[in-house]
Amino acid sequence: MQYCKRCVYPANAKPGIIFDDQGICSGCRTFEHKTVFKDSVDWIARREALTDLVEEYKARQRAKDNPYDCIIPVSGGKDSHYQVWLVKQKLGLNPLLVTYNHTYNTPLGIRNLTNLVEKLDCNLLRFTTAPGSAVRISRYMLAKIGDVTWHYHAGIKTFPIRTAVQYDVPLIIWGEEGFSELVGMHNLDDFVEFTKKKRQEHDMRGFEPEDLLEEPGCPLTRYDLAPFFYPADEDIEWVGVRGIYLSNYIPWDGRLQAEFVINELGFETAQSRERTFNIYGKTDDIHANGLHDYLKFLKFGYGRATDDAANEIRHGRMTREQGIEFVLTYDHVRPYDLDIFLKKSGLTEAEFLGEIESLRDPAIWERDAAGQWRTKDNVGNHVNEPGVPEARLPQVGNWQPFTPSPSKASTRYQEDGRQSDYVLL
Ligand SMILES: [Zn+2]
Repeated sequence: MQYCKRCVYPANAKPGIIFDDQGICSGCRTFEHKTVFKDSVDWIARREALTDLVEEYKARQRAKDNPYDCIIPVSGGKDSHYQVWLVKQKLGLNPLLVTYNHTYNTPLGIRNLTNLVEKLDCNLLRFTTAPGSAVRISRYMLAKIGDVTWHYHAGIKTFPIRTAVQYDVPLIIWGEEGFSELVGMHNLDDFVEFTKKKRQEHDMRGFEPEDLLEEPGCPLTRYDLAPFFYPADEDIEWVGVRGIYLSNYIPWDGRLQAEFVINELGFETAQSRERTFNIYGKTDDIHANGLHDYLKFLKFGYGRATDDAANEIRHGRMTREQGIEFVLTYDHVRPYDLDIFLKKSGLTEAEFLGEIESLRDPAIWERDAAGQWRTKDNVGNHVNEPGVPEARLPQVGNWQPFTPSPSKASTRYQEDGRQSDYVLL
């Protein structure tokens, strides 16, 4: 396997990473235009463009006596806190917050969503999927595409658009354009916006609910899939729905934003994590850092510690060697929440592993003589390769572990979802 000479990504990283002739990945190259060559991005002009854009929508909504200037899709995480603070406090908009509740919540996530609504004093609209539907969809999509979280990607990327149509609020403000940050799918100058096509291709893995209903033997009903039907084109056009990403207009740094929302808004981090060193990201759902991410490892041989280490390396806060240590420590770990999913879905662990067997990437996985799956390679075998010293970025200090915020957990729950089952509210 080829690994990026600067970060820790493998050549099979999704979606669509590519390497240049110096062995540096597209994510690193996209990123360096924002950091190493700071002058190449005029953030002041971008911030002004954002202000102009939102003022136009604000004026239009207020002329209609609509109480909402924009919609912000939120989970309650650090990004949500930062987005809402920025949009409400700095840009002066009246946002309607919308949440798709996938029902796989952590107690910590519920506390943070409550904190967000209280601290920033916003109206929140929350769609809760039927818990039984959530489990049925996870079970079906696990077998189909090796993903237990299809429903919440589908819900998060559909409910805000449906709400925009229903409440006649055209502007949807998303936070980070994730694929650009991870693997460099888009250049900053693309000013990429939300599209139905990208939602379908990447978030929903190519499947609309209509497609699933037509599949022979699919046990899912129209009721199960109700939250995921996209509005009609004419309704979208009538309202003029448009989704922008804040990361195209302001510099996006998850770690700095986490520190800010902890100090200013009382955002609460996890105390520790099983599968990554990052304690401030993806705090709201039980599987994001556990089973969902473990499935990525079982399919492609890497996980969230790779994502998080790549991000820290690109910011110059972590060396590649430190990143590799974290990848080797965390990416293979079997998460505790797998047991919760097995209990809910009625699968045994062997059945669960059998479901995804055909999805293991042969570029990284092979069976050993005893029939056990083994990775053929890992980034630990690529520490001192030619080209690595040349690819190194200047460091801004030594990497320091993030200090957890004081826990607000009641004695009933632990912070990271352990010893808890799916939490509905
Ligand atoms: Zn890279």
